[in-house]
Amino acid sequence: IKSNEDRTYSNGTLVPFGTIDINPHSAVINYGQGLFEGMKAYRTKDGNVQLFRPEENALRMQMGAERLLMPSPSVEQYIDAVKQVVHANKRWVPPWGKGTLYIRPLLFGSGPVLGIGPAPQCTLLIFTNPISNIYKGQTSALNLLINENFPRAYPGGTGGVKSISNYPLVFQVVKEAKAKGFSDVLFLDAVEHKYIEEVSSCNAFIVKGKVLSTAPTLGTILPGVTRKSVIELARDLGYEVMERKVSVEELLEADEVFCTGTAVGISAVGSVTYKNKSVTFKTGADTVTKKLYDLITGIQTGLLEDKKGWVVKID
Ligand code: PMP
Repeated sequence: IKSNEDRTYSNGTLVPFGTIDINPHSAVINYGQGLFEGMKAYRTKDGNVQLFRPEENALRMQMGAERLLMPSPSVEQYIDAVKQVVHANKRWVPPWGKGTLYIRPLLFGSGPVLGIGPAPQCTLLIFTNPISNIYKGQTSALNLLINENFPRAYPGGTGGVKSISNYPLVFQVVKEAKAKGFSDVLFLDAVEHKYIEEVSSCNAFIVKGKVLSTAPTLGTILPGVTRKSVIELARDLGYEVMERKVSVEELLEADEVFCTGTAVGISAVGSVTYKNKSVTFKTGADTVTKKLYDLITGIQTGLLEDKKGWVVKID
């Protein structure tokens, strides 16, 4: 769907997947004025299809749109558009337990500008793709590399929103880490190079005894929907959860470390390497990570009752 001159969105259309026309003067390809979201449609055991907290993604997109000077679709328009796309692609949602339909909403400056500035017109485009369960965090835990020399986001920047421009910044360091056999990079804050922020596509938690801690959302980490949900679920289970600065030293002393995100779900971290020293953490059965994983995936896939009203069914 596209925004009009009055910066409101008109109704969109469903079209088969394919290439799209783009104006060479568009703000997205010249200045990176764009946002994305990542969502999943889950198949339940009885064959239904459902979304998890789509309103949260809609609100996060609105926050990003404000930051990048784009008009945003309303929460209702966003959810309705996602529902329509998933409904039309229902047969592509993999069977229960086999995978999910990944949903990628994009909001970008599609209108032309030549001088540096925001586009006069924006487009919300949603595509989907079936994916297998890329979650590996229980069977093979992640091994992360801390790169103290390369922060992902700066205070006052766009780390707190899902701007497309945040992602190419980390291609190089993540590629280098992967070449050395690491699963991903755990980034530190840009000021003191001391506090853990997040991984390239997920948030990070540490567990010490009955206390879970994760970086606060002060504009340099993405406020993850999974992160928010896990905080609530962990508190329900009786854990204390703190959103606060967590130093690398503290992380290295943790009992467990895990990552949260739509794509990774909840993934256990088996080891973290910092300044050539590797530290291992508890993984597998009988961990807080596993308990939270079972709980959230249970709700997402309809195995557990949705007591919080987080699930939205697709007709
Ligand atoms: N941090 C970053 C940088 C991400 O790209 C993502 C994925 N959207 C997350 C955290 C996790 O967010 P969510 O739980 O909403 O998927």
